[in-house]
Amino acid sequence: MTVELICVGTELLLGNIVNTNAAYLAEKCAGLGLSCYFQTVVGDNAERLSLVLRTAMERSDIVILSGGLGPTEDDLTKEVAAQVCGRELIMDEASRRAIAEFFEKRGTVPTENNWKQAMMPAEAIVLENHNGTAPGAIIETEEAKVVLLPGPPNELFPLFEESVEPYLRKLTHQMICSQTVKVCGLGESKVETLVKDLIDGQTNPTIATYAKTGEVHIRVTAAAEDRKAANKLIKPMVKELKARFGNSIYTTEDDTTLEKAVADLLIANDLSLTCAESCTGGLLSGRIINVPGVSEAYKAGYITYSNKAKRRLLGVKKTTLQKHGAVSEQVAEEMAKGAALFAKADVSVAVTGIAGPDGGTEEKPVGLVYIACCVKGKVTVKRYQFSGNRGKVRESAVSAALSLLRSCILEYFSKVTFGKKD
Ligand code: ATP
Ligand code: MG
Repeated sequence: MTVELICVGTELLLGNIVNTNAAYLAEKCAGLGLSCYFQTVVGDNAERLSLVLRTAMERSDIVILSGGLGPTEDDLTKEVAAQVCGRELIMDEASRRAIAEFFEKRGTVPTENNWKQAMMPAEAIVLENHNGTAPGAIIETEEAKVVLLPGPPNELFPLFEESVEPYLRKLTHQMICSQTVKVCGLGESKVETLVKDLIDGQTNPTIATYAKTGEVHIRVTAAAEDRKAANKLIKPMVKELKARFGNSIYTTEDDTTLEKAVADLLIANDLSLTCAESCTGGLLSGRIINVPGVSEAYKAGYITYSNKAKRRLLGVKKTTLQKHGAVSEQVAEEMAKGAALFAKADVSVAVTGIAGPDGGTEEKPVGLVYIACCVKGKVTVKRYQFSGNRGKVRESAVSAALSLLRSCILEYFSKVTFGKKD
């Protein structure tokens, strides 16, 4: 089945507002297994709206319109839709009462044009709007189902979920479900190579990879008559991915982030953590502390941007700094060891690098970052070369630090843990 979206509003055409309704509706429809091939934005103009609607009804099974259901002169979606569908507008008694109640509750009096909102196309399914006065409607014609929704997102979103989604689900008889397998520590091309045969041979479920900073998400999507049947299709594929990626998978849960997986791992193993940061300047600690409940593990953090701070707060040796420079394997290692010692933490992670745009040399270019991780005295140091601007380098360094932290802890215990146990 195909669906087409028409967003009505001159404000949208002029770029005064962002078309969030289209993004929302498109995602919802995809989730219902509907194919969306066209989306149109049209101004508050009867003739052009009429043309767009007629075209849409000819080529799509379902047409969803947003906006223009309000009481004012320029709100003409309902009038145009009724005309195109060959329906009269008649007073809908329930809507009239709802509007009267709406104003009564607020202690205000409706104006004459508010009653216009209770006029509905004959034989339409009226959709109650609990967050505003303009009801929505579904007009069923031989050609297409035409769904009219109010423009304000705080009215459209709940109305869609309460009334339209169940209606569309009945029409399509199918459900789209997906599960995301999140991989860290491997580049996108490596991940793609490892799943290429699965992508090539895919039908149901389908799999797709999405590159994020420092991680790759593999989304497995299945279509079936209900959630249970969809999950049955998804499960073997997720199992196959687990077999291929092993420890590189940090979670198979949609709402688990890399920092949450790391925090869970620390807490589950009763490990305390400290961070020593130079070029990331607190970003790493910030991401970890974003995880609720991480106070059980996170002890203290050090932002040691200058050489002096590295010496004074972390005990990095003057000779090490002089001999190797602040951005070096040796300094990263001393930072990690010093942080663990001074914070009395079981685990520490240290980051030192050149975020740019200045400060790079041929030998040590912008984007060069050393990350050291110390788990109960055992130190691992890795060298990274990131690309992009200052912000991107810092963000990449944080993600890499989280990945390294995770793999060092796992290696220390040599056991498999997928974030929160599943
Ligand atoms: P109202 O009763 O508020 O007039 P309406 O159904 O007539 O509602 P519009 O007049 O088209 O809707 O739009 C009202 C407001 O809703 C806009 O000013 C804008 O803030 C928001 N809006 C409308 N369309 C969209 C859209 N496609 N995406 C995001 N916001 C929108
Ligand atoms: Mg309006």
